[in-house]
Amino acid sequence: MSKNKVQFQAGYSLVEFFESYGTEDQCVKALYKWRWPDGFRCPHCGGDRHCALKARRLYQCNRCRHQTSLVSGTLFEQTKLPLTKWFLAIHLVTQAKTGLSALALMRHIGVAYNTAWAVKQKIMQAMKERDDGKPLGGVVQLDDVYWGGERRGGKRGRGAANKAPFVAAISLNEEGHPVSMNMNVVEGFRQAEVARWAKQHLQSGCTVVSDGLACFAAVEAAGCRHVGIVTGGGPHSVAREEFAWVNTMIGNVKNAIKGAYHAVSHKHLPRYLAEFCYRHNRRFQLEDLLPRFVYVAARTPPRPGRLLKLAEAYG
Ligand SMILES: [Zn+2]
Repeated sequence: MSKNKVQFQAGYSLVEFFESYGTEDQCVKALYKWRWPDGFRCPHCGGDRHCALKARRLYQCNRCRHQTSLVSGTLFEQTKLPLTKWFLAIHLVTQAKTGLSALALMRHIGVAYNTAWAVKQKIMQAMKERDDGKPLGGVVQLDDVYWGGERRGGKRGRGAANKAPFVAAISLNEEGHPVSMNMNVVEGFRQAEVARWAKQHLQSGCTVVSDGLACFAAVEAAGCRHVGIVTGGGPHSVAREEFAWVNTMIGNVKNAIKGAYHAVSHKHLPRYLAEFCYRHNRRFQLEDLLPRFVYVAARTPPRPGRLLKLAEAYG
């Protein structure tokens, strides 16, 4: 699909969104359907016979008497927000082409800033976990990147202080077009760390093309073939065809994060990178983004739970 086909695909308008998910009742029915597509299942014993305690929106298992709320064990667990606000937040965050700040989200869904921030972090964390479970295959372009740390007096280049190192990886199809990508913060560019990263994020048997940074040979520990191409560095190296896509996406992610968020702390960088990749990896599926996201969110409790729960409590 060409770039124009991505930009001009139907997508999902706000009008359509409100027709489908404008009321709490519609959101409850949708979440119920995505959580229990084959009907209610007791998370405790697996029983399907139950009664609904409508006033408290609880479902009680007839066999073991365990009571389950619609949102327990989901991304929306312990939330004080109505589902309408969650669904609108998910719609806006997944459709935003260049990222949506917590401040913008606060205004759109009408909540306190800390609440908007926590909602945004939870959505991004769910995006990250989803894509972390999908290792890349085929031919993968790989590059080492540093985020931030452009302070005066600091060291320059690879390994400079105050910078967050991350691996950018993008898989290509047989025509050399990008399929999907991931960007993960790592502890540094050392053999053991690259091997750990590769085992989690690459399919064994894939071919990795890198610019020859010695540690990238460690992807072989994950059963991948490594082709190191020595570029010699400098501005000419980024123009090389072997790295055209990964370099383009590194430029795009840096511009997108700086443009939408101005400053992102190293602690939260993994989620912002994941948000960018999640949208890119689903750029042909704009119409399905909300159902796909909530289907997974219905099976994923918020993580890291303590941190994110605490943040929302301030809202
Ligand atoms: Zn039960």
